[in-house]
Amino acid sequence: MLLFTPGPTPVPQNVRNAMAQETIHHRTPEFEAIFEKTREHLFKLFQTDEVIMLASSGTGAMEAAVINLCHDTLLNVNSGKFGERFGKIAAAHGLGQVEIKNEWDTPVSVDAVVDAIKANPKIDAVAVQVSESAGGLRHPVEELAAAVKAVNPDIMIIADGITAVGVEPIDVSNIDALLAGSQKALMLPPGLAILGLSNAAIEKIGSGKGYYLNLASEIKKQRQNTTAYTAATTLTIGLLEVLETIGQQGGIDALYEKTAVRAEAVRSALEAIGLHLYPKSPAKSMTTIDDVHASEIRNILKNDYGVNVAGGQDHLKGKIFRINQMGLIEDYEMSWVVNAVELAIDKLGCRVYDGTANKIFNEVTFKLGK
Ligand SMILES: *Cc1c(COP(=O)(O)O)cnc(C)c1O
Repeated sequence: MLLFTPGPTPVPQNVRNAMAQETIHHRTPEFEAIFEKTREHLFKLFQTDEVIMLASSGTGAMEAAVINLCHDTLLNVNSGKFGERFGKIAAAHGLGQVEIKNEWDTPVSVDAVVDAIKANPKIDAVAVQVSESAGGLRHPVEELAAAVKAVNPDIMIIADGITAVGVEPIDVSNIDALLAGSQKALMLPPGLAILGLSNAAIEKIGSGKGYYLNLASEIKKQRQNTTAYTAATTLTIGLLEVLETIGQQGGIDALYEKTAVRAEAVRSALEAIGLHLYPKSPAKSMTTIDDVHASEIRNILKNDYGVNVAGGQDHLKGKIFRINQMGLIEDYEMSWVVNAVELAIDKLGCRVYDGTANKIFNEVTFKLGK
C-alpha cells in the first residue's frame, strides 16, 4: 500500500534501519553527540535563533508555544481544525482568546489580523498555520507576521509549520516560534515535536510556564545537548538520519525545489482531468480536491490501486480528498497516484480515461524539474 496521506508520511528504509538499533541511555556522551548533531542540522533547517525538541506529538509544540509565549490574549487564525486547536488550547489555559474564522478553503486576510490587534490591545500573541492541513491551504504567514510586527513588535508570532517545515523555505524574520512535527514533512513516526524560537521569544519565555512544556527548562538543558526529561532517543536518531539523508540527496534547497515541482505537477494533472482544487491558496504540502465522489474515489484508490490518501474531517467529511506531497517521494510513485485517480473517475463514470493525468504529471515533472 502506498501511503499518500499528508501525515503520517512514509518513513524511508534507511531511517527505519537507524531506529532499529539497540536503545541507548539518554544521559550518555553517545546520545549527547547525536543530539548535538541533530541540533546543528535543525538550526539550518529552521533558521531560528534557538531550536527545541519535545517528546510529544505536534500538538505538544502548539501548547508549549501558546502557554510560554501568550501571557494575556491569543489571536488565532481558524481556517481549519488545526487553527481552531490553537483557540482551544488558549481556552484550556484560561487565556483570553480572539479568533478570525474563515471557511476551510480561505486563507486569512492580513488586514483582518491587523484590524484585530489594533482593536484589542490585550492580544500579545498571534497563532497561525503556515499550511493548514484541514483543507490544504497556505496562509500568508510571512506577510501577516511583518504586518503585525509593524503595528506592535512585542506581539509574538506563533507559526505552526507542521506541514510546512521541510516542504518550502519559510522566512522567519518576523516569526517567534516555528513548529514542526515528526510524522509530516520530516518522514518519521509520530512522537517528536520541534520548536524554532526567536531571541525575542526566549526573552518573553523568561522562567517559562507549565511544567512538562516549560520551554525555559528545555532551552537550558538542550543548550547542553540534553533534555529536561527523558529524550525521545529513537526518534532523535531517526531525525538525524532523515536530515543527513536530505543532505545526501542534494540538500534542503533541492528538496524544496522538488516538492514545489511535485506540487505543481499534481495540481496540473488533476485539474487537467476536470477535478477542482479545494483551497483558494493551495499549500505545497498536499493537493486537496473537493468532489461529490470523494469517498468513492478514496475507496477505489485503496482497494484497486493500493493507494491510501486522506479524506476530510468535520463538515468536509466525504467531500474532499488530500494527497500528500511532503518528503522524499519517488516520481514514479506519484505518477502511479495521479494515474489511479484518473482510472477511479473513469470507473465512476465521470470521465473516460485517456492517460491525461499522467501525461501532464510527467510533462511538468520532467520539464520544470529537470
Ligand atoms: C498534524 C498537524 C498538527 C497536529 O499534530 P499532532 O501530531 O496530531 O498532534 C498540527 N498542525 C498541523 C498543521 C498539522 O498538520
